[in-house]
Amino acid sequence: MTDDKKGRVLIIGAGGVGSVVVHKCAQVSEVFSDIWLASRTLAKCEAIREDVVRRTGRTIHTAQVDADRVEEVIELIERCRPALVINTALPYQDLSIMEGCLASGVDYLDTANYEPPDEAKFCYQWQWDYQDRFRDRGLMALLGSGFDPGVTNVFCAYAQKHHFDTIHSIDILDANAGEHGHPFATNFNPEINIREVTARGRYFDQGEWKETDPLSVHRTFDFPEIGPRKAYLMYHEELESLARHIEGVGRIRFWMTFSDNYLKHLEVLQNVGMTRIDPVEYEGHQIVPLRFLKAVLPEPASLGPHTKGKTCIGCVIEGMKDGKPKKIYIYNVCDHQECYREVGSQAISYTTGVPAMIGAMLMLTSTWRGTGVFNMEQLDPDPFMEKLMLHGLPWVVKEL
Ligand code: NDP
Repeated sequence: MTDDKKGRVLIIGAGGVGSVVVHKCAQVSEVFSDIWLASRTLAKCEAIREDVVRRTGRTIHTAQVDADRVEEVIELIERCRPALVINTALPYQDLSIMEGCLASGVDYLDTANYEPPDEAKFCYQWQWDYQDRFRDRGLMALLGSGFDPGVTNVFCAYAQKHHFDTIHSIDILDANAGEHGHPFATNFNPEINIREVTARGRYFDQGEWKETDPLSVHRTFDFPEIGPRKAYLMYHEELESLARHIEGVGRIRFWMTFSDNYLKHLEVLQNVGMTRIDPVEYEGHQIVPLRFLKAVLPEPASLGPHTKGKTCIGCVIEGMKDGKPKKIYIYNVCDHQECYREVGSQAISYTTGVPAMIGAMLMLTSTWRGTGVFNMEQLDPDPFMEKLMLHGLPWVVKEL
């Protein structure tokens, strides 16, 4: 191996999202000249490597790492010498991987903000606190380069740049009309998904944060290519950064669809205590019920072959342009089976992995460059929007 590290990436986390990122990077050899994949379970990296060779003819390097341990992350980075680390492990590993990047002088990208394992609370402050350290080291950290957060933030920045003088309100609408054939399964890491869904609702309104009981507010939206679906008001991480960065915005809310069947299972699991995140004593062992539940639920990465239907994620944005009220809807529709045919994954992993690859591409080519810690809406949306069209996530802007 030469030491030309310019196009070398290290991807940490070989789950549903990590697999898509590896496949998509392998498709763009002119940017990603050398790809490493490391995770807690080496066998998962090796299975992805085999699939990538079969689909693209490219060989990737694999390694084992426990990314909770900063010293292991540093050792791995020193061994691979990448230009960028793409973190597709879990939110719990964000800070240890950021520490590893700082120690080794390497840029960083992730798709979900930090969350402590023992408290169901996600917030950007932990990672925003790294601003000075990344800036002083001359490094860049890009936070939340998935779909939501990620593409939804870029949609808002694009609307602000091209469609509005002032934005009054943003509603982020996330519909997954996929059927996977299991009585109950989650489309991304079950532990993270259930922690998010069972949390209290929260939205930004006229400079204040307002709270609602979990899943207590819903509305029916008519989603393009899907039809009417019930969507529930939830707190989601991009609300925090958009409230800070979209100047003058009055209200921002996030809505996600759930089937009645999903909610029925979730309610029972909650009622019997299976979604608890505090350890309980069981036959002489301490176990965390939600972690045990994750172990018996289908792995998100295994849902690909059976999931049919579409996702539709986007933003309805209202504001003023040239003195007149204006309302637009920017969205993407993605088909689970088309994703599976292309990279062997369902659309939730795909819609997260493609933007991670694009964010990485823009950083490696210095199209997006800066020192410090960045949320997606702080960077020029145009090159990102152009790449979405080219790499599998075409978008539509509709005036309402
Ligand atoms: P998975 O559970 O499928 O994959 C996570 C991977 O990380 C697994 O391979 C796991 O290893 C590995 N991992 C966990 N802990 C460690 C550790 N300590 N050291 C090394 N590797 C570790 O999750 P997903 O792929 O569904 O999600 C990945 C990330 O993407 C999550 O942070 C999730 O929140 C985020 N996400 C973001 C979205 C967005 O739109 N922004 C949407 C969906 C997901 P093992 O296999 O051994 O358990």
